[in-house]
This record gives sequence, structure tokens and C-alpha cells, in this order.
Amino acid sequence: MDSIAVYVHTPFCPSKCGYCDFNSYAMSGEIVERTTAATIREILQSPLRGIPAKTIFLGGGTPTFLSGEQLHRILDAIREVHPPAEGCEITSEANPGTVDIPKFSAMIAAGFNRISLGAQSFVDDDLIRLDRVHKAAEIDRAVTAAREAGFTNLNLDLMFALPGQSMQGWRRNLDKALSLEPDHLSLYCLTIEPNTAFYRQVQRGQLDLPEDDAQVDMYDRCVEQTAKLGFQQYEISNFAKPGHECQHNLCYWESEPYAGYGPGAVGAIPGAAFAALNGKHAEATRVRYTNLKHPERYCAAIEGGQLLAFESEALEPETLRLERIMLGIRLNQGVRIEALKTEGIELGEKSLRKVFELGWIEPYEERLKLTAAGRHFCSEVALELA
Ligand code: SF4
Repeated sequence: MDSIAVYVHTPFCPSKCGYCDFNSYAMSGEIVERTTAATIREILQSPLRGIPAKTIFLGGGTPTFLSGEQLHRILDAIREVHPPAEGCEITSEANPGTVDIPKFSAMIAAGFNRISLGAQSFVDDDLIRLDRVHKAAEIDRAVTAAREAGFTNLNLDLMFALPGQSMQGWRRNLDKALSLEPDHLSLYCLTIEPNTAFYRQVQRGQLDLPEDDAQVDMYDRCVEQTAKLGFQQYEISNFAKPGHECQHNLCYWESEPYAGYGPGAVGAIPGAAFAALNGKHAEATRVRYTNLKHPERYCAAIEGGQLLAFESEALEPETLRLERIMLGIRLNQGVRIEALKTEGIELGEKSLRKVFELGWIEPYEERLKLTAAGRHFCSEVALELA
């Protein structure tokens, strides 16, 4: 490996949102510093030491629940173990309710050069229904503070198909987000995951969600509006001003290896590298591992010198093939047919003909890419091709 994408999971949030199935905990106090120290220890002990970081991403949870000083220490540890490659993108997610100019200034001083704000909606009623801790006005203030502190690469996360959301409401929301002139916009359709408060509300018939057709219209509206303002859609849910595509997420979509540190972090690395961590899967092309999820258990494991890769699986060629296609086809540039062949992936003629005839894919230079209509059927196309 010449370089690797590095992900650090920070699992704390001020409270738990009703739709959230991420590895996040509404915990505070001593456990936060204890987890920070354990994460740093995990990074410093990494068998991947010396492999330069292609990108660094702090996600969560809410990384900005940590102090500027704690974030700085984590980043210092990463830099010691994974010297950042030239032009390394260093991102932190941030919740607008947990940031201000001093916090952002401390992050800039630490070396972060990209900020991803979880705005989700600019309507207070939506934010209350989602159980978000911030108000709409705080998003404006957070964007201003981030710019003043020196962030020149700023993403806004926005959700659509929210309970009770009308097309008109979505348009206003989108227009407001775009008026703040982000460099990047990530768009998420609300999905109802099992084991969430929203799931239980759906079961009881208490959530009024937009119909599928309305969801499609909301998505198409975003594609249209962002294009008018000079954004390029480079992935199904991601829109960037030229030069601001998220390099870290591109590593995932291109199926490149990534290291994961922190509670519940996931990594995918070559078997030989994983074997140095816990002696298993040495022959595998790629191993995916997940750290212990709960902060208490994670800290206890690190402090006791135990193994962290709680779950690990050697990815079978068939799984790798499916993932390569499923992730690659999400990119607007599509997948390069030659690259697939080099990796031993042949696409069946019958399947190709079928998705062509449905108008879901088209050739693009030496690639295969989704058409505008096909973007609504990404999973179906990937499954057919794989
Ligand atoms: S802020 Fe994000 S990670 Fe935290 S509870 Fe809400 S959705 Fe989950």
C-alpha cells in the first residue's frame, strides 16, 4: 500500500436523534477523555504505522463534541503514524450546535482543512422532529464561523423526504442551503432503519413520510438546482464545486483500502496487514474489521491490551466483485471497464443488454455510467451487473 485513507470514529453526541442507527452515544464526562486517550493509543500501536495518509476523516457521532485540544491530539497521533501525503484532505464532521469560532480556529490550527456540517434541515420544526440539538439559525452561524476561522472547503449535509415535508418546503430548504455557498453538498434521503425510534413510530403509523414519487421529485430538484449553480454531481448523493469533491469518500467508492480507529470504526485492509494486527486472514486479498462498539468496552480492551477487531471477515472474491461494482457505479464517471477486467471482473453480456435496454446505463469514454434515470435504480443496476 502506497497510502491509505484513515478514518477515526468519535462516538459521542449531545443526544440521540430519532432516526440514527450510527454507533453513537449520548454520554459525557470522564468517558470522553478516556475514549480519546484510548483512540490515540490504538492509533499509536497500529501495525499500519508508516503508511502515508491519503486522506484523514473524523466522523461520528459528533467529533466536535470533543474539545479543540482533544481533536488536536488525535490528529497529532494520526500524523505520527500516517504521515499525510501531499495535499492530504483532513476533514472533521461537525454539528452546528457544538461549534463556534474558537473551536473552528483550534481545528484550523490543528491542521483540519475541510469541515462537514450536519445541517440536515433549515426548518426548526424538521429539526425538532429529527431530534437534532441545533436550531436552523445555528447553521448560519456555524457556516459564518467556519469561514471566519479559515475553512475554505465546507460541506453541508442535507436530508430530504422528512416526515411531513412538502415539495415547497424542500425547495425552500434547498435554496437556503445553497444561499450559504457551500463548496460541497451531500444529500441524504431519510431512511428508516430498524432499532431506531423512527422505526417504531412507522410501525405505529405515527410518521407521515412523503410518497416515493415525491422523493424522486425532491432528488431531481436538487440535481437541477445544483447544476444551475455550478456544482458537479460526481456521485449519486454528492455535489461539489470543481476541485471540492470529497477525496476521502472517493477512496471508499473506488474500493481503496482504509484504516479505521476508534469505537466501532470499520477498516478494510489487505490480509497481510490485518494478520499483523491479530494473526488471522494472512492470505486474504482484503479483510474488513470492526472495532468494539461501546466506548466502555472499547476503552477496557485497549487499556487491557486486548484485540480490538471484534469482528473480521476475509472478503471473498465474489463479495469484492459485488462491492467494486456497487460502489463504482454510484460515481457519475461510472466504472472503467478495463479496470474491472484487470481485477478479473467480467460483466455478463445478457445483463449489460438488459440494463442498456432499460435506459439505466450508458457508455462514457471507456466507462459504464448510470443515466439520469438509472440513478434512481442504482442498486438494481449493480445487482444485475454483478
Ligand atoms: S448527530 Fe448524527 S450520529 Fe449523533 S445521534 Fe444524531 S444522527 Fe446520530
